Amino acid sequence: MSDQLDERLVKVLGDRTAKALEKGLGLRTVGDLMRHYPRRYAERGELTNFASLNEGELVTVVADVAKVAVRPLRNRRGSMLEVVLTDGTGFLSLTFFNQAWRERDLSPGRRGFFAGRVTLFRGKRQLTHPDYEMLDASILEAEDATAERERVAQFAGALLPVYSATAKLPSWRVAQCVRTVLDNLDEVSDPLPPAIIEKHGYPSLLDALHAIHLPNTLGDAKHARERLAFEEAFTLQVVLAQRRSKLRSLVAIPRSVRGGGLLAAFDAKLPFKLTNGQKEVTSEIESDLSASHPMHRLLQGEVGSGKTVVALRAMLAVIDAGGQCALLAPTEVLAQQHFRSITSMLGDLAMKGMMGGAPNATKVVLLTGSANAGQRRSALLDFQSGEAGIAIGTHALLGDQVEFADLGLVVIDEQHRFGVEQRDVLRAKGSAPPHLLVMTATPIPRTVAMTIFGDLDVSTLSELPHGREAIETHVVAALEKPAFVTRAWQRIVEEVKEGRQAYIVAPRIGGEESESDELFEASADDLADQIDDAPQEERKKAKAILEIAPELISGPLSTVRVGVLHGRLPSDRKDQIMRDFTEGLLDVLIATTVIEVGVDVPNATMMVIVDAEYFGVSQLHQLRGRVGRGIHAGLCLLVTDCDEGTSSRQRLEAVAATMDGFELSRVDLEQRSEGDVLGSAQSGSRSQLRLLRVLRDEKLIELAKDEAVQIVEADEVEGHPALARAIAELSAKERSDYLEKG
Ligand code: ADP
Ligand code: MG
Repeated sequence: MSDQLDERLVKVLGDRTAKALEKGLGLRTVGDLMRHYPRRYAERGELTNFASLNEGELVTVVADVAKVAVRPLRNRRGSMLEVVLTDGTGFLSLTFFNQAWRERDLSPGRRGFFAGRVTLFRGKRQLTHPDYEMLDASILEAEDATAERERVAQFAGALLPVYSATAKLPSWRVAQCVRTVLDNLDEVSDPLPPAIIEKHGYPSLLDALHAIHLPNTLGDAKHARERLAFEEAFTLQVVLAQRRSKLRSLVAIPRSVRGGGLLAAFDAKLPFKLTNGQKEVTSEIESDLSASHPMHRLLQGEVGSGKTVVALRAMLAVIDAGGQCALLAPTEVLAQQHFRSITSMLGDLAMKGMMGGAPNATKVVLLTGSANAGQRRSALLDFQSGEAGIAIGTHALLGDQVEFADLGLVVIDEQHRFGVEQRDVLRAKGSAPPHLLVMTATPIPRTVAMTIFGDLDVSTLSELPHGREAIETHVVAALEKPAFVTRAWQRIVEEVKEGRQAYIVAPRIGGEESESDELFEASADDLADQIDDAPQEERKKAKAILEIAPELISGPLSTVRVGVLHGRLPSDRKDQIMRDFTEGLLDVLIATTVIEVGVDVPNATMMVIVDAEYFGVSQLHQLRGRVGRGIHAGLCLLVTDCDEGTSSRQRLEAVAATMDGFELSRVDLEQRSEGDVLGSAQSGSRSQLRLLRVLRDEKLIELAKDEAVQIVEADEVEGHPALARAIAELSAKERSDYLEKG
């Protein structure tokens, strides 16, 4: 079935305009443009308050022309046209070189849209390379003056949609295109089934598109928005419900807990009691494991809440039941760390065939990208023969040649870096689909979990193991109080004298680095967002560890043993440094975010993060989770050059103010666009969700989920071709996002 929404824009708008829309905004079809919703509406009488404009921003303002002057240029031939705009109180100036003819358009008293980048020149705000459209201009210029006048008249009382735009394609150009397309649109197929539309009293898709782009009142726009947001939530929930139902139909080998095996032996030597939360989650997992369809569970819990122990116990249960387990970590450092801590926790239980090994011991094997050919061959053999009970590794475990004798359980640490596709690859590695447990330390509000991980059951560890000390966090303003920075280094030396250890974290590696190194290490995403958001002018270069390390080592930290760890070191070197630090042969570790996740050295009590504003909220929270893991309280200092009152500084203060991960993930979410929340890889301007706000639209999402489950269970999706198509499109988009990312 063809649909007007699938038509290429070039057919409606012509070649040039279509190209500009595609190049600037990634819009190719009529549907793409129709789904490019206004960001907000300007009221006709309303002027943009200049005081709200930030330097460096690309803005569109509605303003009146206050003054125009043409001056000859002194040193060069030509002229300069200077225009001063006003919002009623303040002023903003525009400058054009050799375009004196514009004086005709820009006469004092006229009102228009003006777009450009805000800069400061001698303390005054300017728009550079401005583009504009006078609000009543179309009447004068239209070829078909009557029709145009009619449209403007119709439009006059209405709200003016403001679109996200690019320098080449200002908001009003987008608006013109939208109007042209809307005029030609008469039939669109609606992904929402008629029964649902009727039940909720929603407008049809066509009406909603008209109302959101050209509303008469804000109420109309709101009603349209609700319908369109519901539609997004609904299609997404249908995809997730289908995925869940598909998973339920898969057959897995049940791995019920048996007494008298590795798990029992492990429990007997566990030096602590499981918390109630750990017990609860364990019983959820055990019941999943004994079912004949694959477990598909997300385990979320604060850093240090004891997820790893829970996962290890699940693995031992599966080994007892005759299966193998794979543990996937996002980075090599973390894989190595897991390997060390799991072999040490298991002790003789991991020493199969070795002297001193327990009789029923298993073998734990590490495989990362940097294994040499011999190590790799032997690991692959251990997996294939079933010798290895636990395989630990990075993405290398996803390789084509990796095969298991009987893969029963896959544990993925730090879920957000693995996509659905990668989960599928893993699932295909067993003879039957293995059970799956994904762990994340970034707490996710419920609706976000429903939206992003809607195909997973969720378990949460909310309490920290008994006896855990708090982590105190302070913001240190380096420019305002340089003495406090000196004091921080002293404090590290004092901690070391007490027998404790410390981390110093910086955003960059430094040295001769490539572009990609700058966005370094494990989770570049947070940082990239952060930096992209910062206005160009503010973008100083972040401190690099290869620059600060020599200064610290020869200066304030000259009396302690310091190691330097970053992602560019060869992996055996990284491993050695981590091991030395773990064993106390190093007092201080200067590192990049390689230590962000999972690194567990209970004796480390202090962390100093330099240029902390370069890190995202959840990243900072993860980082500080590295200290205070033992019996001593942790201290984390966030050093920054940011001024008080800036949004970066506020972000740091929010991190300092609370240890509640859920609270912080809200702060984080509120500062990001939804695309970033959902998609690990929403690099482009388009994300899957355009209107839906996962925090604000909680009710809508729940409603959509109920409807989606019903329609999937009744097997009615295929009966609605437009819905089936929307779903196919969404899945395809999601796949390509993950592929881009991987
Ligand atoms: P997570 O993976 O959630 O960050 P870990 O499983 O690494 O947390 O646990 C953090 C630390 O707490 C480890 O040193 C672990 O041995 C310890 N631990 C885990 N569970 C308990 C418990 N119930 N009581 C005391 N200590 C625990
Ligand atoms: Mg962990």
